[in-house]
Amino acid sequence: MGPAVSAGSVALEAVTKRYGSEAVVAGVSLAIPEGEFFTLLGPSGSGKTTTLSMLAGFVVPDEGRVVMGGRDMTRVPPRGRGLGMVFQNYAIFPHLNVAENVAFPLTVRGAPKPEVTARVAEALAMVKLTGFEARYARQLSGGQQQRVALARAIVAHPKVVLMDEPLGALDKNLRYHMQVEIKEIQRRLGMTVIYVTHDQEEALTMSDRIAIMDRGRIAQLGPPREVYEKPDDSFVAAFLGEANLLRARRDGEVVRGPGGAVLATSAGTPPGGEALLFVRPEKVSVAAGLAEVLPNHLPGRVLHASFLGNIVRYAVEAGDGATVLCDAANGAGAVLHQPGDAVTLSWRAEDSRLLAG
Ligand code: ADP
Ligand code: MG
Repeated sequence: MGPAVSAGSVALEAVTKRYGSEAVVAGVSLAIPEGEFFTLLGPSGSGKTTTLSMLAGFVVPDEGRVVMGGRDMTRVPPRGRGLGMVFQNYAIFPHLNVAENVAFPLTVRGAPKPEVTARVAEALAMVKLTGFEARYARQLSGGQQQRVALARAIVAHPKVVLMDEPLGALDKNLRYHMQVEIKEIQRRLGMTVIYVTHDQEEALTMSDRIAIMDRGRIAQLGPPREVYEKPDDSFVAAFLGEANLLRARRDGEVVRGPGGAVLATSAGTPPGGEALLFVRPEKVSVAAGLAEVLPNHLPGRVLHASFLGNIVRYAVEAGDGATVLCDAANGAGAVLHQPGDAVTLSWRAEDSRLLAG
């Protein structure tokens, strides 16, 4: 016997899907262990839904394999894959009430009535819709409909649940509430969740690991903190929140930034010549006048100060036309710098990276 393969593990092996001559998913490989919350994150059109559709069985890849629980599922139709699904356009059935909607995955396969009743009650309790059994879609808010779809996806206790932008239509508060709910249910049932979103904050808060997609390929894959703090390229850096990407040059052993300043950086060492120096706005401190607070420092002049309540975001002109964004916490005794003020920007070498230009 070979090594045991967990039923909830999922893999894509060099999967490609073309429409016409264009590969909208181009040689994607992924290995997702059972119980992981895995997110595909990327801009619109980057191939997230197509990738998820190949996992679901709605789309058959032109090349490569889809493997679930160690079994080749590449050509198995959706109903043979035993997955739960919440797709943006996979709405709840208008002619069925809430209980019938949630029961659907069980009734289609002829589950015994007592089991159906018990499972539906359990799933509705998990999404906090007990008491809504007899309602129809038109009698529910958008958030409640989304929760019905979620209950339907988990009612059969699938090992793997696929979700494509399930919270896309909800307002911010409800979205946050549902994020917490989904995580809680996932933990309780030990499900593998493969989640698609274009919302970077949602991806960062919910995921064990994130794959950032760019034009049909995985640009980077790792835990939230790693992809946020150690982007491999400027696309990932700019897609995940705000990033300063300053023109820099490697000159032998030293890196020179705006105004020729010598800057120390951590890993990320593209070949010599033109490069981009990456540092997040919240890692840059701003001090009045000439102050050498941290090893890397640049003199600058405040262009804008935007008061955002808990933080103040500064745009600082720092030589050679470079604008550096810095977020300063509006903590106790915080000094507000004004447009026109001379300041010194500084950051730690380990908070910056040199990326290919
Ligand atoms: P995402 O979910 O990241 O927004 P999609 O996977 O939906 O991206 O689409 C990726 C690319 O593939 C887009 O350019 C889209 O227009 C194209 N595409 C998706 N489905 C089809 C299809 N059935 N026929 C032709 N092109 C498609
Ligand atoms: Mg999509």
